[in-house]
Amino acid sequence: MSESIDVTGRLRKMPAQAGDPVAYTLAVGDTRIPLNDLIGQTVRLDFDGVIRCIHCDRTTKKSFNQGYCYPCFRKLAACDSCIMSPEKCHYHQGTCREPEWGEANCMVEHVVYLANSSGLKVGITRGSQVPTRWIDQGAVTAIPMLRVASRYLSGLVEVACKNHVADRTNWRAMLKGDVPELDLVQERRKMLELIEDDLAQLRAKHGQDSIRVVEEVSLGLGYPVQVWPSKVKTHNLDKTPEVEGLLEGIKGQYLMLDTGVINIRKFTGYEVRFRVLD
Ligand SMILES: [Zn+2]
Repeated sequence: MSESIDVTGRLRKMPAQAGDPVAYTLAVGDTRIPLNDLIGQTVRLDFDGVIRCIHCDRTTKKSFNQGYCYPCFRKLAACDSCIMSPEKCHYHQGTCREPEWGEANCMVEHVVYLANSSGLKVGITRGSQVPTRWIDQGAVTAIPMLRVASRYLSGLVEVACKNHVADRTNWRAMLKGDVPELDLVQERRKMLELIEDDLAQLRAKHGQDSIRVVEEVSLGLGYPVQVWPSKVKTHNLDKTPEVEGLLEGIKGQYLMLDTGVINIRKFTGYEVRFRVLD
């Protein structure tokens, strides 16, 4: 069966289904390949040098913001700097690049959560992106803390939290499975105490109902990993267009090969051939 896997097409971010373990799929063109079954086999990726924008299909020499061409990167609201820094949302100034997109994606309920990916971190995401966002970050547990009225407001809450906790994942530690155990219910209670004054100020300005504390339970996530890497070496298709190795695990958006790890999301839009060699 697996001998017949030999597909060519444009790479996409890996779809993943929550569970223990998380079930991953490799998306190459229109083909969807269940990946968990391939752990323990030798796989190969060949990049043919063509990158095609995931928004407009134009070929581009370089990928911007994980899969876009330069014109789309400059034009789309999804590529604006306020997506990385939501506290800089400028919709209310009438300068959103695509107000309709903003209304559908930013002016909707967001979740401020705590996650344990390489230690405690805070993050925000659209309600509908839970738990996808957590899986993409390789979190082993995560818990919703607040539900807030907009992306902008979630950004302001996140800024307050960042005084007390990280907002990034140490991806090398995440990939080594080097993660401390944390009681997220307790961490959530501590964090809510620490930001109490900030929340009161934000509510006074944006409305009492704009920020709601939630009692939702935490979610545990296991990843399909057979062997944890002791050293994390990364593959880069821009420098080495042929990547081959024994698939030993999958976590976050990374394939863990015995020859190094590769961040599939980083190469969204790249046209590749994917094969199982065994
Ligand atoms: Zn484009």
